[in-house]
Amino acid sequence: MSFRRGEGLIGWVVDAGEPTRVDEVKSHPRWVQSKSQTFQVTSFLAEPLWSNGEVIGVLSVTSPTLGAFGDNAQLLLRLLANCSAPPIDRARLKRLAMFDDITLAFNHRYLVPRLTEEMERASRSGSDLSVLLMDLDHFKQVNDRHGHAVGDAVLRTFADRVRRAVRRLDVLVRRGGEEFVLIMPSTSAPQAHATGNRIQQALHDEHFEVEGAAQTIPQTVSIGVATWDGHEKPDALERRADEAMYEAKRLGRNRVVVATPRRDRG
Ligand code: GH3
Ligand code: MG
Ligand code: MG
Repeated sequence: MSFRRGEGLIGWVVDAGEPTRVDEVKSHPRWVQSKSQTFQVTSFLAEPLWSNGEVIGVLSVTSPTLGAFGDNAQLLLRLLANCSAPPIDRARLKRLAMFDDITLAFNHRYLVPRLTEEMERASRSGSDLSVLLMDLDHFKQVNDRHGHAVGDAVLRTFADRVRRAVRRLDVLVRRGGEEFVLIMPSTSAPQAHATGNRIQQALHDEHFEVEGAAQTIPQTVSIGVATWDGHEKPDALERRADEAMYEAKRLGRNRVVVATPRRDRG
């Protein structure tokens, strides 16, 4: 269950920054019965989680018993809230830093650790692992013609289109600038190639309609596909995808090129 600021008792605790103790929730004016709630709540206790002068969340406990919580329970909950707020806030900031602000794709710092993780998983399960390296074509012209803010909106729209065209378990990383990597677990080279084609088709079918631009913007992408050989390091796999992407540029952009497997594979 999640509550917005100001919504229900928990939302009020956030706004007011005050603890709350209720002996019988159904007679409380701020109580909101959630449809997804599967357990019985009669009494309720909540403490705000403070970090740097800001309420970052609420710690709450409920009971099916009338008036279950006394002063000692409230004190104990405050103690728990004060102990847990700093690590929760650290985890929250770490999570925020994982994503790129503009596209909500994973940050480039996440690429190698995630690839390493997926390689270990692929090794264990004996499944394929492929990556797409995507570089927007002539993206500098978008900035030059429409301005940097429109450029940012094009990057965001591109990331949205990609996410719509791929599976939920595929991981989109913004490698930097107008370059993205899609990590595709359990995916063979032909399947990755098909996904690359699908992404290009999605861009082709509908030009980008972004705020601040007078007309829709056609945007194409060059894509390099590389499939893990079961041995190479993350940077070697990325390099092969990169080379394939450059080959796509060289051949005239707006196409998918599949990297040749490594020759020195054991
Ligand atoms: P190519 O088809 O060869 O890839 O051409 P290109 O213009 O896409 O490539 P180039 O590397 O020359 O230019 C990339 C441009 O991406 C230049 C830079 O201004 C722009 N860019 C990089 N990061 C951002 C960003 O965060 N926002 C915006 N709006 N533009 C960015
Ligand atoms: Mg580039
Ligand atoms: Mg480019």
